[in-house]
Amino acid sequence: MGIFAEDTVTSTDDTATDIDRTQARRVIKRGWGNVDSTKQADSPYAQRLKIDEKPVIVKFLEDEPYSSFRMHWVERQGQKSFTCIADMHEQGCPLCDAGHRPNPRFAFNVALLNEDGDSLVRSYEVGPRVIDSLKNFHMNPSMGPLSKHYWAISRSGKGPTSQTNHQMVRARDLEEEWNIAPLTEEGIASIKSQAYDESIVPIPSRKTLVSIASEDFDYNAS
Ligand SMILES: [Zn+2]
Repeated sequence: MGIFAEDTVTSTDDTATDIDRTQARRVIKRGWGNVDSTKQADSPYAQRLKIDEKPVIVKFLEDEPYSSFRMHWVERQGQKSFTCIADMHEQGCPLCDAGHRPNPRFAFNVALLNEDGDSLVRSYEVGPRVIDSLKNFHMNPSMGPLSKHYWAISRSGKGPTSQTNHQMVRARDLEEEWNIAPLTEEGIASIKSQAYDESIVPIPSRKTLVSIASEDFDYNAS
């Protein structure tokens, strides 16, 4: 299912060319040490959790999504995902009007744990199939609530038949089975302070969507 793939994020901000040079220079730092923190602190987009065959260990920071929205996934060059604006704009969503169907999307704040003891906040964005599994885990008294235990998440298969796998890991098994130390209370508090909220979800301008509807769907919005 296309919505699980990672897309190339490019700016939809129409004013992106009006960059304040002085300010831009201030955020351009030298060396590798800044790579991760820079990506995290200065990106206007949430850093998505990437799911692969090799499992990643995460802890859900909250028991519910920080945001739910609908996403248009358009097969095209450049940016492919666009938040549906049908409920946000009185003139509606040009992509919906052009007959393209958006998919529900749910975003969770998770801490991604690395073997070197680092943990980073990530946005775990899932579609309708995975949200059902997560809800079941959350409601299951031996697994939930979602933020109680750790989870090893991986993907198996490719393309439309790919599947996201969730394996619950108790804190006491984390070190032995995964060679990763559990987060401390302070660690959790610190990573929670970087958690995303719904303001991070990119809202495309109607103008952008009108031009995509006309370029990719031959749709005349006027
Ligand atoms: Zn739409």
